[in-house]
Amino acid sequence: MRVINCHAHFHGRDEVEEKRALWDSLGYEKICVSFQNEQVLKLAERYPDYIIPFYHLDLDEEGPDAVTAAKERGFRGLKLIGPQKPYSHESYFPIYERAQALGMPALLHTGFLAFRPGRGVRQENLRPIYLVTIASYFPEFRMVGAHLGNQWPMEAVEAMMECENVWYDMSGGTVRNYPTSWFRWLFARVERNQTSQEPKINLDIIGKLVFGSDNPDDTMEFYQSFMAALDIPSEVQAKVYCDNAAEWLGL
Ligand SMILES: [Zn+2]
Repeated sequence: MRVINCHAHFHGRDEVEEKRALWDSLGYEKICVSFQNEQVLKLAERYPDYIIPFYHLDLDEEGPDAVTAAKERGFRGLKLIGPQKPYSHESYFPIYERAQALGMPALLHTGFLAFRPGRGVRQENLRPIYLVTIASYFPEFRMVGAHLGNQWPMEAVEAMMECENVWYDMSGGTVRNYPTSWFRWLFARVERNQTSQEPKINLDIIGKLVFGSDNPDDTMEFYQSFMAALDIPSEVQAKVYCDNAAEWLGL
């Protein structure tokens, strides 16, 4: 299976070299990396077409020109996380508008964000439903939401179903601890009004997922277990592991 890993963070060349054989065995053809911008760019220069650099943009400190500058420097997408205001706040619109105009996709952290006591995080600003609002204003701005929204998975599902330009990864600690029965509950549907029908997994929803590891190498084990448990056809798996990400990246 060809795989594009939409969501990773590395700090240097050693990590890539130590793990390259493992990642090759997992099928990773490309990895979207964000964290410290300078390091990420260096890594991408060393491994062109393998490491895809994402610019960590501070929504509160930077404006649309940062998007243009990032693109000019070789970044291929934006990583957004931890805003002081809700993602859908109008003060961020010029950034989304520029990203849309330049074809820069974005990865947005959604749901619970780990924090250190004393270092404030406005958890309430990270809801997946804000992606729906953004998409309604910027329908060509291609977004991947991270972690299936953690504690807000139903909003994440709604966002994927309602917005062509929104996909979701299932990385992180919350979702990977849920059992198959929970995924069936979240992803299975009946025909309209047929409440007594046996629910069937909705492949249109599954077909809007993307693969993102957020680093742990066993995230692939989780995706494989999920696909097997829900009996997902290989053509839908191909979308999740590779084709959706290619569309998001504009490849
Ligand atoms: Zn991450």
